[in-house]
Amino acid sequence: MQVLQSLFEKYDSFRHTSPALSKRRFKHKDILPLIQQLPYENMVIGKSFEEREIVKLKVGEGKTNILLWSQMHGNEATATMAMFDIFNFLKARGDEFDSFRKDILTNYSLHFIPMINPDGAERFVRRTAQGIDMNRDALALQCPESKILKNMVGVLKPEFSFNLHDKRTLYSAGKSGKQATVSFLATAYNEAKDWNEVRTKAMKVICGVIEFLQTKIPGHIGRWNDDFEPRAFGDNIQKWGSSLILIESGGYPDDTEKQFIRKLNFVAILGALHSISRKSYTKYKLADYEKIPQNDNYLFDLKIKNAKTEVDGKIYETDLGINLNEKNNKAATDFTVDSVIADMGDLSTFWGIEEFDAAGAVVRPLSLYPELIEKHKVKKSLSAAVGLDSSAYFVLEGNQTQTIVINGKIIK
Ligand SMILES: [Zn+2]
Repeated sequence: MQVLQSLFEKYDSFRHTSPALSKRRFKHKDILPLIQQLPYENMVIGKSFEEREIVKLKVGEGKTNILLWSQMHGNEATATMAMFDIFNFLKARGDEFDSFRKDILTNYSLHFIPMINPDGAERFVRRTAQGIDMNRDALALQCPESKILKNMVGVLKPEFSFNLHDKRTLYSAGKSGKQATVSFLATAYNEAKDWNEVRTKAMKVICGVIEFLQTKIPGHIGRWNDDFEPRAFGDNIQKWGSSLILIESGGYPDDTEKQFIRKLNFVAILGALHSISRKSYTKYKLADYEKIPQNDNYLFDLKIKNAKTEVDGKIYETDLGINLNEKNNKAATDFTVDSVIADMGDLSTFWGIEEFDAAGAVVRPLSLYPELIEKHKVKKSLSAAVGLDSSAYFVLEGNQTQTIVINGKIIK
């Protein structure tokens, strides 16, 4: 625990300062020069469908291998950013972490593949250039990227593997109003979800990391459902004999570009490596793991309670659940947000990341308020009605209050 606390406290001194990594939409051409600047052995292990070079870095001289890859889904970049922080950490010397570095780098060789789906990252989309979800291609192997990953697992026979992803920011940690900021899974290797030694080791390492993270983001940690997915890499690599740890970065309030979650990845991955190098994970039990709530769907970006809506002159009460969806710009270097009213009615069993009590105010479409449209410079053509699946541009008219919602955001 102490080393994780220190990693958390000292993170800023290892954070990679490249501006390219300060937002999630960076590309293969942005990280290649950063890789070349590092004092590690790097190797082109193959090319993507569009012939971008996929590079593996090796750190350490140990006989036992550990394999880590990120961005199998092109728009899941958090762990790639954290990897560059970890590279900085591993090359530093002369601090309290020296003995940890020596242990891990003498006994293990760490193999990192940052951005294994560079074509998807170029467009900031999940799938490969072929339109295939690489994480359903572990058996069919129709993507060159899939063949590269499978080949690496076969050649290195890693004792541990780290499968690093992001997920939707609206997953909740169990039935709660808290986002599942980081989620873990020791993937199942068969339909029966048995616990053999390989899978059990992954589970125990996860428990050690979570024990610490709960102190920093209490209630924000989730566990994936462990149904066996025969086509996925995580499940197959576990089956092929490598203890596989899945880490998924979700959302955290006011962390759109996931820079805090990047730090949590840094601590989680290095904390896991520390517990592997010291074998301190062996003390954890399945019961510790099963305490972690499963990822669930109880969240909206904005929940408006106790509003009134008018249809054909009839007024009824409704809550509104509003979500904000990112839309890439043409070059996938930035994004805009599209709001949508995703649900209406009695939403008392759900939460919002932001919540607002409309206290009986009536929802009126913003299109009825030309002066507000002018004042707030709204460019979008607005519909004459507000309802399910429409964009969230409206005014909550109360007896003495007026609250304006523009594209899913309350204007204060
Ligand atoms: Zn993913």
